[in-house]
Amino acid sequence: MEKLIIIGSGPSGLTAAIYAARANLAPLVLAGPEPGGQLVTTTLVENWPGSIDGIMGPDLVLSMQKQAEKFGARIVFESVKSANFSQKPFKISTDSKTYEAEAIIIASGARARTLGLPNEKELIGKGVHTCATCDAAFYKGKEVIVVGGGDSAMEESNFITKFAKKVHLVHRKNTSNASKIMQERAKNNHKIEFIWNSEIKEYLGKDKLEAVKLFDNQTNKEKEMKIDGVFLAIGHIPNTEAFQGQLKLGKFGYIEPKNEVFTEIPGVFVAGDVSDWRYRQAVTAAGFGCMAALEAEKYLAGKE
Ligand code: NDP
Repeated sequence: MEKLIIIGSGPSGLTAAIYAARANLAPLVLAGPEPGGQLVTTTLVENWPGSIDGIMGPDLVLSMQKQAEKFGARIVFESVKSANFSQKPFKISTDSKTYEAEAIIIASGARARTLGLPNEKELIGKGVHTCATCDAAFYKGKEVIVVGGGDSAMEESNFITKFAKKVHLVHRKNTSNASKIMQERAKNNHKIEFIWNSEIKEYLGKDKLEAVKLFDNQTNKEKEMKIDGVFLAIGHIPNTEAFQGQLKLGKFGYIEPKNEVFTEIPGVFVAGDVSDWRYRQAVTAAGFGCMAALEAEKYLAGKE
């Protein structure tokens, strides 16, 4: 039986692992289907405190992983399929095994919703992006498209105009579901142009995005549009499928934490993007991971 299982290996899971390992809990980390989480799909991370010249996303998580292992964390490359929190010890099942643990930290993250176009995966980080806070600075003086019609699309478009000379906000409807204030802010920004009733049907470019095929769903006409970058702001999907029925899921399927990192089940903690739809940053995820590990340590000490 494990003392502590950490589900997820992004910055929240690995920070939790570093703290828990240094507290001699020898945590078992179940890395999940995308080891390293969303950082693995980014290029240069320039807002990680302490790295003046930035650090490549994959390098950042790899060094977190090595740091956690140095202190005794064990990382297993398996994905959680189901969980049973109704009895103790808690049970976590992967494809190959069922694990038992006294405490759990769920840090399974979220995945950005994407358009699902054929060459999208290859172009992520090479012209196609899912995080404006992370990557907007690469588009100084350039022209980009933001896809989406919600608060994220409005906020990210505004943010990107700090760098880009023009943002084309492409939305598939002719109305926005963003809050009025966010819509107004975007509409009043002269660098943002709204393109309604439109959808990207194809990314053009081999090793780097060069243009898109834009489809007008009112006129049924398609045109090619040269563009330096595309930012997808069409929502996120929390990785909570394995916990359905075990924990009460809140807004959009996210785990709703109590006091930052607690769940309604004593001994089951939560950290990072799986419960945070608002900030979604590597550094905030790491902070939540730290908090969850400190609380798990306290919980386990109280049981002894
Ligand atoms: P939302 O789910 O609110 O909006 C997603 C948008 O993307 C919708 O306009 C939707 O269009 C569009 N979309 C979804 N799928 C596709 C697709 N396959 N192709 C094209 N377009 C698509 O997500 P957000 O990330 O904007 O917001 C999530 C939550 O976070 C909300 O509660 C929001 O209020 C909150 N938020 C708050 C902020 C703030 O207060 N500062 C900032 C950012 C987010 P359609 O309507 O056609 O489905």
